[in-house]
Amino acid sequence: MPNVVVVGAGAAGLAAGRCLEERGAADVAVIEAEASVGGKCLTATVSGRPFDLGAIIMNAGYKQTRKLAAEFQCELQDMPAVAVANPATGEMWAVGERLPGSRGEVASALGRYYVERLVHIAKNGRGLIAANDDVAMSFAEWLRARDLGVLESIIAPYFTSFGYGYLDEIAALYPLTFFDSSKVRMLAQFAIGARPPRWRFLQGFQSLWKSVAAELSTVETSCAVRSVERGEQGVIVNTSVRRFEADALFVSCSPAAALRFLDYSPEEERLLSSFIYQDYLVCVADVEGLAPRSCFFDANLESAKRGHLMVATRPWPELDATILYSMISPGRGVSETIDTIRQDLARIGATMGRVHLRKRWGQYFPHLPGEAIARSLPRDIEGLQGRSRTYWIGEALAFGAVEPILAHSRRVVASAAIGPAKQEAAGVR
Ligand SMILES: Cc1cc2nc3c(=O)[nH]c(=O)nc-3n(C[C@H](O)[C@H](O)[C@H](O)COP(=O)(O)OP(=O)(O)OC[C@H]3O[C@@H](n4cnc5c(N)ncnc54)[C@H](O)[C@@H]3O)c2cc1C
Repeated sequence: MPNVVVVGAGAAGLAAGRCLEERGAADVAVIEAEASVGGKCLTATVSGRPFDLGAIIMNAGYKQTRKLAAEFQCELQDMPAVAVANPATGEMWAVGERLPGSRGEVASALGRYYVERLVHIAKNGRGLIAANDDVAMSFAEWLRARDLGVLESIIAPYFTSFGYGYLDEIAALYPLTFFDSSKVRMLAQFAIGARPPRWRFLQGFQSLWKSVAAELSTVETSCAVRSVERGEQGVIVNTSVRRFEADALFVSCSPAAALRFLDYSPEEERLLSSFIYQDYLVCVADVEGLAPRSCFFDANLESAKRGHLMVATRPWPELDATILYSMISPGRGVSETIDTIRQDLARIGATMGRVHLRKRWGQYFPHLPGEAIARSLPRDIEGLQGRSRTYWIGEALAFGAVEPILAHSRRVVASAAIGPAKQEAAGVR
């Protein structure tokens, strides 16, 4: 009988499963609804080559992920240089070539941002639990209030185009969590026209998680959790395949997915239903006439341009197949959004041909709206840890990127009352 059931075999669930096994703590079963592991680290094959439809990039701050990659002998490759295109004028230039101020002004603003972030951390703490009224306003407002508005167009490509939201909508807490010292350094390097190190997995991000899963004792795919009953005697997890009994439950799937199977308390329901999501579209299509292999569409990174092409990446120089990213506007569908992307490409003289793949991440980037941040809801959510034998991991609590997810899973496992010597402490609180 497994002692721990982990729901979801994405980055968070597999990292937690690995940490739990490393601690020699318990039998662990990682349960995944899809036929394959990886979750939002999803790699597809186009013209015989791997294409990432989910996570793709790691920067210098991805220490744990790169350590894991080295351990599993996953080959990494440098990301191509980035350019900027303006579909309104058809112009194109290298990142760092056109700045919203002089290099000195941008460098000074990045320095001041760094200090303001340290002040925020000193006052409120690190990560998403550092939530309060100070960081509930939109990030655009937060920057302007500090006379840092010059940074909006520097930051948006590395936040909005990754699907995390528009700077005039997202609560400041999220960009403040994401743009840590390694990313400030990266922004500074981009701003002076340098090329900061950024890598991708040669065989796709999913290849890492397939290797990690292969080493775990029990990973069940095509096994969807249908219902969970938590009581004093333990946890019963009913799945589409069979029933599991456990001492503790780790939940890594989205809060919306958890609400579909959990025997939630009124408090859990209140907190989990507070999350909102982005509707993010990724497609792989042949694009001709787009010379740079990676290209931001900076003019499309404001909320008024929702539904337009935000960034394009051609991972393989010998292929025209390009990964294209956009948000889907409410009331519009995938085909209409792809038409808009086609028009954006045409405006810079590029032609979109065959669409090989389209993936709509309808519940992307679980995050909380400003009013929930003002009420410090992330603290209440983190406060659920260990209650009713349940531990919460994954992007909703950590931030929607692999490195913070790994760190968070590791922390939660380390502080969980699980393991042969500690099983009795895992009781219902
Ligand atoms: C297009 C895109 C680009 C991205 N780019 C980057 C990037 O460059 N760098 C980066 O670091 N991050 C990136 N991310 C974010 C990163 O991929 C995610 O934040 C991370 O993979 C989420 O991991 P997770 O384990 O928290 O959640 P998920 O990967 O969502 O895993 C949750 C798992 O739970 C499973 N599940 C759900 N319900 C059930 C159920 N009832 N029973 C069993 N299993 C269930 C799901 O199938 C899923 O596999 C990107 C994401 C996307 C979509």
